[in-house]
Amino acid sequence: MADTDSSRTLLRLEAVSKEYPTGDGSFVWVLAAVDLVVSRGETHAVVGPSGSGKSTLLNIIGALDRPTSGRVLLAGNDLAKATDSELDAIRNREIGFVFQAHHLLPQCTVLENVLVPTLAGPSGRSNPESEQRARSLLERVGLGHRLGYRPGLLSGGEQQRVAVVRALINRPKLLLADEPTGSLDHATATELADLLVELNREEGVTLITVTHAGDLAERMGAVHELRDGKLERR
Ligand code: ADP
Ligand code: MG
Repeated sequence: MADTDSSRTLLRLEAVSKEYPTGDGSFVWVLAAVDLVVSRGETHAVVGPSGSGKSTLLNIIGALDRPTSGRVLLAGNDLAKATDSELDAIRNREIGFVFQAHHLLPQCTVLENVLVPTLAGPSGRSNPESEQRARSLLERVGLGHRLGYRPGLLSGGEQQRVAVVRALINRPKLLLADEPTGSLDHATATELADLLVELNREEGVTLITVTHAGDLAERMGAVHELRDGKLERR
């Protein structure tokens, strides 16, 4: 069947399943024939109980893991057909990640941390344009006065804002966030949720966030619940 809306569709999951070995010779199904279509510029939340497979799903979407069966189409690429090095390239070019723990490098400054994803090119150095973008994004998220700080001196909310800027530095089409507010207090979590929605509008980046927090999910345009391996739109 012809894909008539391929220019609008950024991501398509077709019957994506994932099983893990249990260690005693048997397997457990975590995802069972999950379908999902995400258009460019949309915001989606995936909610569900702990252990329901939310991170597994996000890692498959983000080309960090492969499904046991099914197809993932991202920005016109069939991830099942990509080699590991092609997956690395797609991930670098198309996707930004934010996790619950920020994973910033403690010995590097805020500005250096944000520039890490720009070092992947052949020169191993970031260009002046990247540095300009890093400075203006950090300014945008209220950290213009913290460029030279080490992450350990920042609050949890500030650290997470640095992680968001780092995820956006290469202008990804898709921002994936796994429990991004999970380790923040309520007020700080609300601020981060506001920021993610604003950046979705300003940068045009498509957003998929996995969350326990109902108030973050409610800000997304679509909410899907993962339960017993099935993804259902709420
Ligand atoms: P969630 O993010 O919703 O809490 P996960 O995707 O992390 O759920 O895990 C879903 C299920 O898959 C859990 O039961 C977990 O123990 C299992 N699981 C996750 N990763 C692995 C793995 N690498 N090997 C075996 N089992 C795994
Ligand atoms: Mg998880």
